[in-house]
Amino acid sequence: MSKKKDGIMVILSSPSGAGKTTLVKLLSQNKNFHISVSHTTRKPRPNEIADKDYYFVNHEKFETLIKNEEFLEYAKVFNHLYGTTRTPVIEKLEKSENVIFDIDWQGADQIKNKKLNYKLITFFILPPSKGVLFERLSNRHTQDKLIVEERMKEFTRDVLHWINYDYVIINDNLEECYSKISNLIDAEVNNGSKDYDKEYIRKHVEKLTF
Ligand code: ADP
Ligand code: 5GP
Repeated sequence: MSKKKDGIMVILSSPSGAGKTTLVKLLSQNKNFHISVSHTTRKPRPNEIADKDYYFVNHEKFETLIKNEEFLEYAKVFNHLYGTTRTPVIEKLEKSENVIFDIDWQGADQIKNKKLNYKLITFFILPPSKGVLFERLSNRHTQDKLIVEERMKEFTRDVLHWINYDYVIINDNLEECYSKISNLIDAEVNNGSKDYDKEYIRKHVEKLTF
């Protein structure tokens, strides 16, 4: 069991473009979460800031971190390596600070399987429809239609992992989605009642993958 004074860990995963980065930023601003900054071998996007959005490193550096067992989890996603280093996370949790992760299902599985002595809540974010997802990805990658196609193809495979998360939330209206996540975190921390309908989610996944 986690000690009462320890921080908590919240993981948000989703198919690319569903909105988890946006939600992680909102949760960190409004609910006092530190965002876990990942290492990645992919190149920065024009709007991204090094050491804030990611630690952008080359393959060799990433391999060294793996060899030195510095990662709490790491995975290959869309042909690039992504990973969370252990020390900054544990240091924060030990200081009663909360940490939020924007990582994929492979990383979420790895952290879950480690069974660390800190409270962990996992969320999977879904788009309201495939059409909306396509629009969001197209707006983000206006220059690169190939990336949009690649990520749409990955969607059907990614979505199948919803079942391994504590909660699955549909990101239609951003504010409503944020409130649902925020209320569920509060309910988890305070042992309160949870407003969550898993059957509704199951039907939504069926519609998305039909
Ligand atoms: P992810 O991190 O899951 O890949 P992002 O957070 O980058 O997704 O969101 C993808 C795009 O969709 C961004 O341009 C973001 O501003 C937009 N977006 C996110 N949530 C919503 C929402 N509820 N309504 C409309 N646009 C959204
Ligand atoms: P993007 O390149 O769009 O920033 O991220 C691509 C995917 O990699 C997203 O699903 C994101 O959640 C995931 N990701 C980002 N950082 C990490 C990490 O440290 N570990 C894992 N396993 N996935 C990550």
